[in-house]
Amino acid sequence: MCGIVGAVSTRNIVPVLVQGLQRLEYRGYDSCGVAVHAKGVLQRARSTSRVSELAEQVDQGHVEGLTGIAHTRWATHGAPAVHNAHPHFSHGSGAAPEQRAARVALVHNGIIENHDELRAALQKLGYVFASQTDTEVIAHLIDSLYQGDLLAAVKAA
Ligand code: GLU
Repeated sequence: MCGIVGAVSTRNIVPVLVQGLQRLEYRGYDSCGVAVHAKGVLQRARSTSRVSELAEQVDQGHVEGLTGIAHTRWATHGAPAVHNAHPHFSHGSGAAPEQRAARVALVHNGIIENHDELRAALQKLGYVFASQTDTEVIAHLIDSLYQGDLLAAVKAA
């Protein structure tokens, strides 16, 4: 079963997020990841290994921030692979998304039943998908609805 941790602090939140994932490891998972928001930039680390390996990655990659989300995944859509691990990013619509800063980071538990229809509609809007997951459609859907108010975008989704 997947696990989700989210936290906001006045100090670097990554150690708390990683500890949270370690507490959820007993539930089982095939991959894990963490994303933080710092100084207007989204940063991410993901792994198909243990949470301890993710902890090494965030240390070495200096992934640090005051606001973050983390996830242990139990794959339902898309193989257990790093590119399918959460958090999923949306870089907005248009070609070569990796050349633009990420705008949305998202973790999710469960299944998006209508992911095929949503993916097709978002592809028509120019969104390029980086994974085979159902989850990624929600990151792009929220991005497509975002006009400066995240709660309004989530409600509209
Ligand atoms: N359906 C999503 C995926 O395959 C979420 C799975 C989960 O709950 O961990 O990525």
